[in-house]
Amino acid sequence: MLDIIVIGGGPAGLTSAIYARRAGLSVLVIEKEHFGGQISDSPKVSNYPGFKTISGLELSNNMFDQAMELGAEFEMDTVTSISKENDVFTVKTEYGQFQSLSVIIAAGVKHRKLNAMNEDRLLGKGVSYCAVCDGDFYRGKNTIVIGDANSALQYALMLSSICPNVTICTLFDKFFAEDMLVQALVATPNIEIVHNVSAISFNGETKLETVTFEHTVTKEIITVCGDAAFIAIGQVPDNEKYVPYVNLEKGFITTDGDMATMTPGLFAAGDCRYKKVKQVATAINDGAIAEQSAQNYLISLKNRSNS
Ligand SMILES: Cc1cc2nc3c(=O)[nH]c(=O)nc-3n(C[C@H](O)[C@H](O)[C@H](O)COP(=O)(O)OP(=O)(O)OC[C@H]3O[C@@H](n4cnc5c(N)ncnc54)[C@H](O)[C@@H]3O)c2cc1C
Repeated sequence: MLDIIVIGGGPAGLTSAIYARRAGLSVLVIEKEHFGGQISDSPKVSNYPGFKTISGLELSNNMFDQAMELGAEFEMDTVTSISKENDVFTVKTEYGQFQSLSVIIAAGVKHRKLNAMNEDRLLGKGVSYCAVCDGDFYRGKNTIVIGDANSALQYALMLSSICPNVTICTLFDKFFAEDMLVQALVATPNIEIVHNVSAISFNGETKLETVTFEHTVTKEIITVCGDAAFIAIGQVPDNEKYVPYVNLEKGFITTDGDMATMTPGLFAAGDCRYKKVKQVATAINDGAIAEQSAQNYLISLKNRSNS
């Protein structure tokens, strides 16, 4: 029987694991894709205190190494459901099940899809949601970035140093990104900007060749050639599987300031929570608080069984 199971190995979950191990608790982190979470997709992180600039991958690798060296246990698997009976949580995964006295959900968010034609069919064959992970496969090739906020601009800038031409396509007539990124983007000669376009289809038999867009004002059909298209249009929550043990607001888990959900012993931390600021710094804050709350809950369980 574990003290804590953490669902999700991003910054929030790894922080909970670090705090749990330092408190001498047994902790298992279950991660479905890659340890480190979303931040490992970021080429450059410049707002995480302690590092003026660090790659997202290096930052998340450091967190993972720290949790591992402290003795946290890890499992690569996808959590499919949770349940609670007589103070024991059962966390079911695709390949097994685990039991613990408390659970911290730190499952973050998932990539938002465009739902354009052939988006799924050409995924991994030119269509990608992560330029940091897949960008280098397209070194020397022309690439497309779809999106208008910080991540999209970071992707375009990163790709511009390895690709002859990068086209960034946005739905509206402006960017919704930090000024510094916008200035860098417009000053980069091999980045072409196409505003006011909506993606209709990804085209190619065995691999991506072109993307078809419709101009949102003129309705003109525009075809952009590229060997890869990186979609960076934000994230959506993925928390339905934790109902009825949690309450959701707009798909995000609601908690109190102690990261407690409606179920005693069940906590939530990071981007999966209903909150305004979704950043590494706030995910880490949540992860630390959730673990401390889990620790207090475990003490109260122990006191109850002793009395
Ligand atoms: C491209 C990009 C750039 C960014 N740049 C910055 C930046 O510069 N500065 C900054 O502060 N923030 C940045 N962010 C935001 C930051 O990455 C997030 O706020 C942070 O990672 C949230 O951490 P988290 O642990 O809550 O969630 P996540 O990082 O999303 O981690 C959650 C983990 O849970 C796993 N998971 C989900 N469901 C399950 C399941 N059912 N079973 C098992 N595992 C599951 C996921 O695979 C994931 O690894 C960026 C995000 C992106 C995408």
